[in-house]
Amino acid sequence: MAEAKQGNAAENNPYDALVRLLRDKALYDSVFVPDGAVYELQTLIQSSAIAFDAYCPSCGADTTWRVAPSDLIPQNIGQLRQAGVAFKYFFEPFTKAMRYLDFKCSRNATHVLQFAVDADETGPQKGAIRLTKFGQLPSLADIASSEIDKYRQFISGVDLAELKRAVGLAAHGVGIGSFVYLRRVFERLVAEAADAAIDAGASQFTRDEFDRMRMEDKLQGVKDYVPAWMVQNRKLYAILSRGLHELSEDTCKQAFPAVKQATLALLEQHAEEAQKKKRATEAALELEKLQKTLDRDG
Ligand SMILES: [Zn+2]
Repeated sequence: MAEAKQGNAAENNPYDALVRLLRDKALYDSVFVPDGAVYELQTLIQSSAIAFDAYCPSCGADTTWRVAPSDLIPQNIGQLRQAGVAFKYFFEPFTKAMRYLDFKCSRNATHVLQFAVDADETGPQKGAIRLTKFGQLPSLADIASSEIDKYRQFISGVDLAELKRAVGLAAHGVGIGSFVYLRRVFERLVAEAADAAIDAGASQFTRDEFDRMRMEDKLQGVKDYVPAWMVQNRKLYAILSRGLHELSEDTCKQAFPAVKQATLALLEQHAEEAQKKKRATEAALELEKLQKTLDRDG
């Protein structure tokens, strides 16, 4: 839906359009800005006034990325504008500067995010400039993947690999495919909970019976073995499944950040609860030992 809207009209806020292109869009995606925005964007670049928040793989933390002024933009652009110089004299330096856009990490200026953007005034829309991202380093996929590494301490290797595949696909503009991997992570958590319930002799089902149950019933069956949050927010699974069967590629792309956050929140809670349970079991064992010692000595 949003894609179609962008294809129809130049956006009123060129700053927002450019930030979205750089921060969120896959390679070869475009946004359209009015041709009058060329002057405004160059002025913003020259005064380092374009910035956005995103993860920095080198810091291993969220940071603010701020554009570095470009040598390719004339210093006297304000005077040229006042003198009524023709559009093409603004457009040429703009196209060059956009090919080498550097953003610096506000924590450490040696951490740089590089972009290459093509500016085309002969695109399908009159009076609009089409901005197409054709280069980025580090890639969106690398940034997203290193962000997932934050969760390494409490996510199993196979979940970590599949989460990375999900964010990698999303970074390359693959919507439905990215949902598939999130759904697998969700299903694995439920299956592991079923095994734990069966091992503890606390289940009403065998593993074969469990595999044939609907997700709604599965969650009820393992509710003591998964975070309560998971049962309360079982719509996450419904949304992931809808993505596979009925949602469009674009809807999945738009929805991906929210379902990714929900999946990570789920894994985080699961790990926290497992840790609490382990600590409680160990503490109970210690108490029991202590009691025996005291009984013997007393
Ligand atoms: Zn950094």
